[in-house]
Amino acid sequence: LISSPKSSELHVIHIAAEIAPVAKVGGLGDVVTGLGKALQRRGHLVEIILPKYDCMQYELIRDLRALDAVVESYFDGRLHKNKIWTGTVEGLPVYFIEPHHPGNFFWRGQFYGEHDDFKRFSFFSRAALELLIQAGKKPDIIHCHDWQTAFVAPLYWDIYAPKGLNSARLCFTCHNFEYQGTAPASELASCGLDVHHLNRPDRIQDNSAHDRVNPIKGGIVFSNIVTTVSPTYAQEVRTAEGGRGLHATLNSHAKKFVGILNGIDTDAWNPARDTFLKVQYSAFDTQGKTENKEALRRKLGLSSANIGQPLVGCITRLVPQKGVHLIRHALYRTLELGGQFILLGSSPVSHIQREFEDIANQFQSHENARLLLKYDESLARFIYAASDMVVIPSIFEPCGLTQMIAMRYGSIPIVRKTGGLNDSVFDVDDDTIPEEFRNGFTFLTADEQAFNNALERAFFHYKNNSEFWRKLVQKVMRIDFSWDSSASLYEELYEKSVARARAANRA
Ligand code: ADP
Repeated sequence: LISSPKSSELHVIHIAAEIAPVAKVGGLGDVVTGLGKALQRRGHLVEIILPKYDCMQYELIRDLRALDAVVESYFDGRLHKNKIWTGTVEGLPVYFIEPHHPGNFFWRGQFYGEHDDFKRFSFFSRAALELLIQAGKKPDIIHCHDWQTAFVAPLYWDIYAPKGLNSARLCFTCHNFEYQGTAPASELASCGLDVHHLNRPDRIQDNSAHDRVNPIKGGIVFSNIVTTVSPTYAQEVRTAEGGRGLHATLNSHAKKFVGILNGIDTDAWNPARDTFLKVQYSAFDTQGKTENKEALRRKLGLSSANIGQPLVGCITRLVPQKGVHLIRHALYRTLELGGQFILLGSSPVSHIQREFEDIANQFQSHENARLLLKYDESLARFIYAASDMVVIPSIFEPCGLTQMIAMRYGSIPIVRKTGGLNDSVFDVDDDTIPEEFRNGFTFLTADEQAFNNALERAFFHYKNNSEFWRKLVQKVMRIDFSWDSSASLYEELYEKSVARARAANRA
């Protein structure tokens, strides 16, 4: 269990509910792996603590083994044993905690969405800190993510720092403020936190229901560093419209709150090496894109009559956040403009799924449109490669990876100017933006007219200026969306925070 970094390196522990590709629901899993690997490459000691879910992709964990040591952690008035496993995920050392609690917390066949998620993850947060103290670890940074592990921050200061686990600064990242994990205040007591002390407006009390506690608020109040996943989203959540009830809390902790744009794993998303494509290609030779377009049209039974007919892709979860009505509209408008449209998406919301199933049936054998209502990563890769444009009309978007992946594959993004989309896509026709940054088409208002304007401009450039378009494709493929620059921003935050703590200790 013991490993120590060299003195100049930081020892960073991520406590999280996901790690890609082993236990991934969304962007959080990608961040833990991408940021972890980038920090490791910069010479830091990075370790990760996760629940040992039954539904993980075990074949992707290397050297998984159980340790002899058993860690006992408190919950609901007594101690519970936890079996500790170690393994390596994408080169990152991971501890997996398997609780021996009668609730079988991580033996549910899914990661989230259980009636007792609050219990499951408050238990896990406490067990993770217990693992650190019993292993004698002295991390510089404990980095927790989303409401599931936000409990770590108050647990650390109220219970573990007094017990001697006091080397660390706390960093909390919220990947989406829509999910806050609130619960009746009394539930906080199970993991040993003092409800009376914490259920106060300046601590963990929910801002709109005073008999409830809000773990995200706890993460904000009790961490030294608070981040979210893009600079624009960080601004948006500080307003009453965007903050989901937490804007006042974020504003009163504004000094420690920043937005850092996520990166993508440029090894995993690389059209020059992607074996799911018909043909690999790179920015030096984009001809392969046309061959992929032809192959995908054939595979899906779309018309191949006109190679110059623009192909518009959309790869998304079909949830209100993603602008479902504009996605539907994009299909019809693309067809009116003479393009082809492919949607790959699925919905956890039954009425949205049903609505799109009806539309998919209507277009079942249409020569210019296909809707594929499923999750399919290999097909997603093929669509990114084959498309000329990708539409992302989100209502809000904390960061968004789709636009970055699309550009890496030479598909030009058409996006609503919100959150991370606003920080990564800059309009080709906007003279106020330096030429070298312009890489796509944007619109502001979340309505059909504004969307049409962006789509029509994209079609105009595509049809009337093929040389301009070819250069645009090459340009977006060369943009660096790797984790390196974002990881250096996290590193800087960590280092400043650690330095402040050391200075305070010396004073
Ligand atoms: P979010 O995390 O809100 O869903 P992001 O843009 O951050 O949105 O990440 C979406 C990721 O999921 C991208 O990698 C995208 O390619 C992938 N994805 C979304 N829907 C599908 C689907 N139906 N099939 C395959 N991949 C999908």
